[in-house]
Amino acid sequence: MTANTETREFQTEIKQLLDIVINSLYTNKQVFLRELISNAADAAEKMRYLSLTDAAAAQGEQPLEIRIETDESAHTLAIVDNGVGMTREELVENLGVIAHSGSKSFIEAMRAGGQDGAPVDLGMIGQFGVGFYAAFMAADKVTLTTRSYRPDGENLIWTSDGAGSYDITPGGDMARGTKVLLQLKDDAHDFAKPDVVKRAIKQYSGFVPYPVFVNGEKVNTVEPIWTKNKNEITDEEYTEFYKYTANAWDEPFYRLHFSSDAPLALSVLLFVPAENLERFGFSRMERGLNLYCKKVLIQEKAEAVTPEWMRFVRGVLDSADLPLNISRETLQDSALVTKLNDVVTSRFIKFLQEEAKNDPGKYAQFWEKFNRFIKEGAANDFAHKDELLKLMRFESNKKAPGELVSLEEYLERAPEEQKAVYYVNGPNRETIEAGPYLEPFRAADTEVLYTFEAVDDYILERATEFQGKKLVAAEQDSVDLPQKTGDSPDGVPPEERAALTAWFKEVLGDQATEVRVSARLTDSPAVTLTNYGTHSMQRMMQLMDQKMTDAPPGILEINCAHPIIIGVNELRKKEDDFAAEAAAQVLQNALLAAGLIFDPRSLVNKLNDVLARAVSGA
Ligand code: ADP
Ligand code: MG
Repeated sequence: MTANTETREFQTEIKQLLDIVINSLYTNKQVFLRELISNAADAAEKMRYLSLTDAAAAQGEQPLEIRIETDESAHTLAIVDNGVGMTREELVENLGVIAHSGSKSFIEAMRAGGQDGAPVDLGMIGQFGVGFYAAFMAADKVTLTTRSYRPDGENLIWTSDGAGSYDITPGGDMARGTKVLLQLKDDAHDFAKPDVVKRAIKQYSGFVPYPVFVNGEKVNTVEPIWTKNKNEITDEEYTEFYKYTANAWDEPFYRLHFSSDAPLALSVLLFVPAENLERFGFSRMERGLNLYCKKVLIQEKAEAVTPEWMRFVRGVLDSADLPLNISRETLQDSALVTKLNDVVTSRFIKFLQEEAKNDPGKYAQFWEKFNRFIKEGAANDFAHKDELLKLMRFESNKKAPGELVSLEEYLERAPEEQKAVYYVNGPNRETIEAGPYLEPFRAADTEVLYTFEAVDDYILERATEFQGKKLVAAEQDSVDLPQKTGDSPDGVPPEERAALTAWFKEVLGDQATEVRVSARLTDSPAVTLTNYGTHSMQRMMQLMDQKMTDAPPGILEINCAHPIIIGVNELRKKEDDFAAEAAAQVLQNALLAAGLIFDPRSLVNKLNDVLARAVSGA
């Protein structure tokens, strides 16, 4: 150490991460090599981009490359690049604190296990923007020598043993770029063997777009796979490319490779990952495809070429029509990019529709993991929502629990004369099937889709129709709902029914907009219907506006054949003062069945009054 040495502590989260990386028994150690090579390639990529846009940076340009040097007797391995390098500030910012929002959740998950308690795979480290620290899987000590491409760049040495702090000292003799020298741990001495390193590179970094040399020997073939013919590419090559481009560890779940010449010259290779990381409580994924023009990378994770809901998709888009030095800003509002976005999105949706048709079982797995994104698109992506609606899946009363139905299948099965597609919302299948809303459908033997989330109702309500049929929620006051034919003569005598409903309305006052005799109930005494929207929407509004404690008044339909309603009618005729209390309770119970009671305490008090009455009458 010299007098110029600056010692700094790692940020707390990084200390925690390092602690995990160093002490984990993770056996797949070559992850570190992939991460360091990927950083070297990123640095080269940034340099290449600068040289396209900045004439000064391009001066005296040597070929960009990555050199790996091994020394078996010294147990060292070095990864050297001639990319952008780092300034002192950049060293502190990039290798001392966490830059990406996703990293903290990764560290949390690493410490506590995933949301479901399962251990999180350390191999995913690179996907969370902390790949550099994987170096400490294999090294006791890391010495990073760097010099920034900037005119004021200094020669600097960064060292750490991963134990909590790092040093920065002036020194080293890099012309430009970064060298990461690892002093290998005892159990990682193998990584000083050129053959081991070469094998790992072929396996995990075969698609790095810059030449990689191991002790002077070139080991990768730099080839943009997406420009090749589909039948010239093996599954393994696709998978390796996916792992490289998505910095992923898993196998891709789906892949889509297509090209076109008109109206746009375009090659696209898309992957759906095996896992939805957002599902494990990680933060939002970063949207974007890597954008190329004739095999030259223009921008990584270009957001403009896919809609937000497609953020789970990884891959590349190469278009000869893109100008080479297009900037991020111009990308956002270029008409060409808007067109590309539409082509890619439409093609991807069509691909999913075909997959769903050809292998429904596999699609069901996809749906289970990724339905969030499809729903987000169906709710927000105005241009594609109709096609996205076809990708939605639901449980239904005509299917066993867990089996799924699409809207198209629903209509194929529905009788010609059926006016609408029906859906009913509830927290789960059991609650829906025990509730009053399913009764008319059961009685009419009509299929009804189950929606378990408010967003489902939001999408269906906004879509209003599908292939010419209305989409109707079971709680809506709609003439399109199945009705029983003819008034049942049982129960409350038909000539007393008008008086009964008028009396109900008077007793309930503003709590119901209307009270009428139900033509749909079979088992329940009453049901409440909405005048507008769906109950899901009302519940959501309720959640947002905490002050609002009661649901907006709806229509109350009473079942004149039900013993409770018959009983209330008798009490009414006797002018028993319990009649009004019972009527109020009928409404409360209907609201409860609708999931619209937000303060159960008020209900308990009323129930106690009713119970007191029942007990005293006994
Ligand atoms: P990520 O690569 O996802 O950003 P890393 O932990 O791998 O996360 O690296 C953190 C940052 O350190 C990089 O974003 C980059 O700015 C910097 N860095 C790492 N390695 C190099 C390198 N070889 N050359 C230049 N900068 C580097
Ligand atoms: Mg990295």
